[in-house]
Amino acid sequence: MTSEELLEELVEEAAHLVVDSSHVVALVGAGHSVESGIPPFRGPGGLWTKYGEPDMLGYQSFMRDPKKWWEERMSGTGPLQELIDALDQARPNPGHYALAELEQMGQLQHIITQNIDNLHQEAGSTAITEIHGSRVKLRCIGCNTRWPIDEFTVEELPPKCPECGGMVKSDTVMFGEPIPHDALEECIRQSRMCTCMLLVGTSGTVYPAAGFPQDVKMAGGKLIEVNPNETALTPLCDIILRTLAGTSLPMLVERVRQLAAA
Ligand SMILES: [Zn+2]
Repeated sequence: MTSEELLEELVEEAAHLVVDSSHVVALVGAGHSVESGIPPFRGPGGLWTKYGEPDMLGYQSFMRDPKKWWEERMSGTGPLQELIDALDQARPNPGHYALAELEQMGQLQHIITQNIDNLHQEAGSTAITEIHGSRVKLRCIGCNTRWPIDEFTVEELPPKCPECGGMVKSDTVMFGEPIPHDALEECIRQSRMCTCMLLVGTSGTVYPAAGFPQDVKMAGGKLIEVNPNETALTPLCDIILRTLAGTSLPMLVERVRQLAAA
């Protein structure tokens, strides 16, 4: 059997699994956005490889001097400027569009993404929990109200929440910052309902996200890995599509469409 035939056979199995599952969730990690031109953090060309590991107490530094953080951000000189520039250039890839189509067909109930890049929304997905926040939103650390950045008027630094007077920061979760509880609760709720989870470009090493597939598996659900590389979650997976998401997800969606129509 050639590798193309093997891939087609695995896609066929995965498509049946998706169509036969009552609640499908995609857990998406940084690997998926690399296909859209966003540099990874670790490994060759990674941002941390170039600039050194980030401040692991980023949130504590922010809380010590939020005004300084806001000034750096507004002047565009922070250490993450290269990442911010890459994010500005990034566009959804075929894998993002495939997930959006799967949702529109009623075959994907939710996306849990570890990415902050807003590319799922740009591709047309709507049922999304951004566990590490979103680059296009601000969030109040007091009451978790979120605003699109361009709809929030900054009148003082740091800005204050008009609802509760709490401090407003980027929605993006910093190192040392707890995952916002509303996002975490939604991820747990989705994982409990999930009978089939697609693991797309996630390394399976960053918690709490890496725990969700383990919960699904323990509850009797199925796992489909879509990743060019082996991961910490590979041993748990029922079907493994060892390709970029942009390659095999469009194939999967096409087959799901045929099965669902039959
Ligand atoms: Zn608030």
